[in-house]
Amino acid sequence: MVRELLKELVVNFQSKDKRTRKGIFFVVSGPSGVGKNTLLNYALGRVEGIYYLPSITTRSMRPGEVQGFPYFFVSKAEFEGMITQGAFLEWKQIHTGDYYGTHLPTIVYALENGYDIVTDMDVLGCAEVMERFPGNVVPIFIVPPNMEALRRRLAGREKDPALIARRMARVDMEMGFIDRYRHVIVNDDLERAGKELVRILEQYSQRD
Ligand code: ADP
Ligand code: 5GP
Repeated sequence: MVRELLKELVVNFQSKDKRTRKGIFFVVSGPSGVGKNTLLNYALGRVEGIYYLPSITTRSMRPGEVQGFPYFFVSKAEFEGMITQGAFLEWKQIHTGDYYGTHLPTIVYALENGYDIVTDMDVLGCAEVMERFPGNVVPIFIVPPNMEALRRRLAGREKDPALIARRMARVDMEMGFIDRYRHVIVNDDLERAGKELVRILEQYSQRD
């Protein structure tokens, strides 16, 4: 599994989606549980030619998740081996100490060959990526309508109160990065916010 991730791209790009310009890297950030993956699922089902870039993580799979979506799930030893091999553009330990990282070879390939990609990344990772690829990154921040709604969404997904508290403890720090983002979407109603994300993705992706 890891040998494959090291040698191959984690996205199966199709030449029909290749642009003549460089690829665009859409990075979606926001507190855990705000609805990033839900909105991405909504939007990716409605736009053409934009690829989801799965990150690689050591956290355990949740119900409904599969190998490769929204993550490639690997062991800690495997992840650390990939760090040593230079496989990541950036990586972080988040919340419970689990590792999350983005696959450098896939990003470089996409941007150089004119493929548009989108991924979900924490605010610290996004800041690094904006520095590394200043001309290619479109940063998008998702905010909850209010903190109570965020807590409810987290509680709907996670039963362990300690895990909910760890995620809520990071929210103030995360909100402090909001001014660095080119677009901010309030995820109040899924249909409304999803359409806004679709419009933003298309606004850039349809350019030559
Ligand atoms: P994230 O990827 O940001 O961690 P998820 O997409 O997993 O968040 O969403 C967390 C929970 O919130 C899920 O149970 C999801 O169904 C719910 N959710 C997402 N968007 C909305 C919304 N607009 N209104 C109500 N619930 C939502
Ligand atoms: P979760 O465990 O809720 O799926 O994700 C936890 C956090 O990790 C979220 O804030 C998410 O945006 C972030 N994340 C996911 N993949 C990456 C990655 O590759 N790099 C960084 N820095 N953060 C990531």
